[in-house]
Amino acid sequence: MKKHNFSAGPSILPQEVFKEAAQAVLDFNNSGLSILEISHRSKDFVAVMEEARSLALELLGLHGKGYQALFLSGGASMEFVRVPYNLLKQGGKAAYLDTGTWAAGAIKEAKAFGETIVVASSKQDNYTYIPKDYTIPADADYFHCTSNNTIFGTQMQSFPETGLPLVCDMSSDIFSRQLDFSKFGLIYAGAQKNMGPAGTTLIVVKEELLGKTGRQIPGILDYAAHIEKESMYNTPSVFAVYTSLLTLKWLKAKGGIAEIEKANIEKAGILYEEIDRNPLFRGTANTEDRSAMNVTFLLNDDSHTEQFDSLWKAAGISGLNGHRSVGGYRASIYNAMALESVKVLVEVMQQLEKNI
Ligand SMILES: *Cc1c(COP(=O)(O)O)cnc(C)c1O
Repeated sequence: MKKHNFSAGPSILPQEVFKEAAQAVLDFNNSGLSILEISHRSKDFVAVMEEARSLALELLGLHGKGYQALFLSGGASMEFVRVPYNLLKQGGKAAYLDTGTWAAGAIKEAKAFGETIVVASSKQDNYTYIPKDYTIPADADYFHCTSNNTIFGTQMQSFPETGLPLVCDMSSDIFSRQLDFSKFGLIYAGAQKNMGPAGTTLIVVKEELLGKTGRQIPGILDYAAHIEKESMYNTPSVFAVYTSLLTLKWLKAKGGIAEIEKANIEKAGILYEEIDRNPLFRGTANTEDRSAMNVTFLLNDDSHTEQFDSLWKAAGISGLNGHRSVGGYRASIYNAMALESVKVLVEVMQQLEKNI
């Protein structure tokens, strides 16, 4: 039986996408060849890469606005390095908002490239909220933030108005909600949360921001070099890019970000409602900063753990355990998660309440 998969990442993808991707592994485009054995320079794969890059921009509303989309390897963690390499000027400085483990990872890497100012941090409160009162130095080269904190279940509901290039790690909420994406100078997202299999990262960058640091950038780390080679500087992760394209097509057919956002709001709504209503549970994130993608919660009484765990496992739920730094439970309810699966979880929570 197919499980209700609440895993934080790698995570659920639409069932149709799994089927189509599996078929392409056996026979891609009726070519008699697997997607895994064709050249990345073949006409068929070049078309995949072009469509994936174009559709990503289209869904974000960024066509014709000076942006380029890339699908690169190395995971979101690689962008923690590539971003300062490409945007932090020699002798310049960068500003970062510290909202979680991943944000802290990005800050650590930036420090190797120049002065890195942490404008605010919620670390002392185990990242239960998004800091809001902070000043961004006007002379920084860019401001970096993390839109959704996958581990802690918080999500930025608004972004600071700043004249600086806004750089955002959207790994766990890309394509999940409508934003004015043209406010961002650079967006990156590891595929394996809300877009595709692990192995590729989407980078969307405003081209005019590049080439200004005065640094000699090794080709593999240079966004401009990847743009020039149309995201084929070296062999791309062909299967991850192809499967991401299938997910983007699925999203477009569903009505794009506007439609999926409605479904995401409904899913998160019923789950938070149950967490707040059910006396056995409590949420871990500050209410106004709650994430619509990763819902983190605890049992008020640890002695119910065994019973709750056996109930949700028996209901076919998988991947519900919280990250070790928060404990408890984390329900990741990405785009591909059906409302039905969230209802199963809510029913299990209500069942526990009846049993006790
Ligand atoms: C998972 C995650 C990362 C790390 O992604 P990798 O692809 O493993 O490097 C970075 N940022 C956020 C917000 C994440 O959720």
